[in-house]
Amino acid sequence: MKKRFYLLSLLLFLSAQSSPKEINTLWTIIGAGPAGILTIGLLLDLGIQEKDITWLDQEFNVGRLGKYYKTVPANLKSKLFVQFINDCKTFNQCPVTPSIARLHHYHPEKEYPLQTIVEPLQDITNYLKQRVNAKKGIVSSLDYQDGVWHIGVGQQKTTSSYVVLATGCHPRELNYPIKNKIPLDIALNKTMLVQHVKNTDSIAVIGSAHSAILIMKYLSELKVREIINFYSKPCTYAEDKGNWIANESSGLKGVTAWWAKNILEKNPPRNIKRIHNTKQNRDKWLPLCNKIIYAIGYERNELPKVNGSNQVAYDNSSGIIGPRFFGIGIAFPEVHTDPEGHTESRVGLPFFMEYAQRVIPQWITKERLHRLQEYKDLFTIELL
Ligand SMILES: Cc1cc2nc3c(=O)[nH]c(=O)nc-3n(C[C@H](O)[C@H](O)[C@H](O)COP(=O)(O)OP(=O)(O)OC[C@H]3O[C@@H](n4cnc5c(N)ncnc54)[C@H](O)[C@@H]3O)c2cc1C
Repeated sequence: MKKRFYLLSLLLFLSAQSSPKEINTLWTIIGAGPAGILTIGLLLDLGIQEKDITWLDQEFNVGRLGKYYKTVPANLKSKLFVQFINDCKTFNQCPVTPSIARLHHYHPEKEYPLQTIVEPLQDITNYLKQRVNAKKGIVSSLDYQDGVWHIGVGQQKTTSSYVVLATGCHPRELNYPIKNKIPLDIALNKTMLVQHVKNTDSIAVIGSAHSAILIMKYLSELKVREIINFYSKPCTYAEDKGNWIANESSGLKGVTAWWAKNILEKNPPRNIKRIHNTKQNRDKWLPLCNKIIYAIGYERNELPKVNGSNQVAYDNSSGIIGPRFFGIGIAFPEVHTDPEGHTESRVGLPFFMEYAQRVIPQWITKERLHRLQEYKDLFTIELL
């Protein structure tokens, strides 16, 4: 009995030491887009101490949404953004700023521009930055040695027990033979787009999802001469199936769904041509275009070199990449199979939150298991 007491006391003492001496921090979160923000919030909700969390990003401006897409119409009703904030206890400890108050006053069933959620998330970011160790910088390397992550940030090195990549994505492009390209981030902002187009332009728009449809809507309103849309798949809509939604993440929703269904498919403007994207059609129709916009999705931002490699694989149902190493957000989404057997990556704030609420507690449990594992010899004695 006495031996048991001493062993348990020693175990508790060792467990209370959050990390070995040479480790600078327990958790390092890389990226301050929506996924990084919610990871910090949920780790705090789950009782990880703020002194044990380091947060790294070069800008802390709500990632790509904050930098480029504030004016883009959201594809979600505003009540889902309110719920996103309400789902995290720590977010609700942030003092109510004008933007957070405004979010609660929008019509819950309507969609608004993304700034309605970007501005509250910027205020929450500023609040969280005061609580955890937030540092500006780009992480260039991650090396796992002897159970510790060695993290290269600029010229500096730091160490951490656990690392989360929330490093996001950027627009994917191809190299079709049109030199004059309008970047997607510009095309999605109508006031910027207007500065890049003339009414004599014939513009190739590649893609048929949310961004491509929105850009065609903008271009038709700007009355360019011709819009030639090269699509690989027909328009796909989010569809209510009663107790589940088909194409919930990838299907068209909100204003783009309405415009695609009622205008593009039923009564398209005369200056829009839709062409199946085959080599033969490209050879025929691309030479008629003087500008091109690629709206064909997103690919991962360049990752820090992980043990010397730029490639990592992850488990798309838990976010686990490697030992004490996790990924979340648009670069590492959950892959979901619906009741009809179709799979899709779940991208969007409510999906990230729901998924994170499921997996982050597992990451932490695994942390505890790791600690127990470290002291397994002690347990063996105890079990004996
Ligand atoms: C046009 C558009 C419209 C969308 N509309 C909606 C919508 O209406 N509703 C919705 O829910 N979702 C929407 N989404 C989808 C989704 O919510 C976003 O893509 C989401 O912002 C992704 O967040 P993230 O944190 O994963 O990545 P990001 O926002 O890309 O953030 C990644 C962050 O990591 C940083 N970073 C990257 N590498 C490093 C490094 N090595 N070191 C340090 N920092 C690094 C970056 O600087 C950035 O700040 C939309 C997406 C797009 C593109």
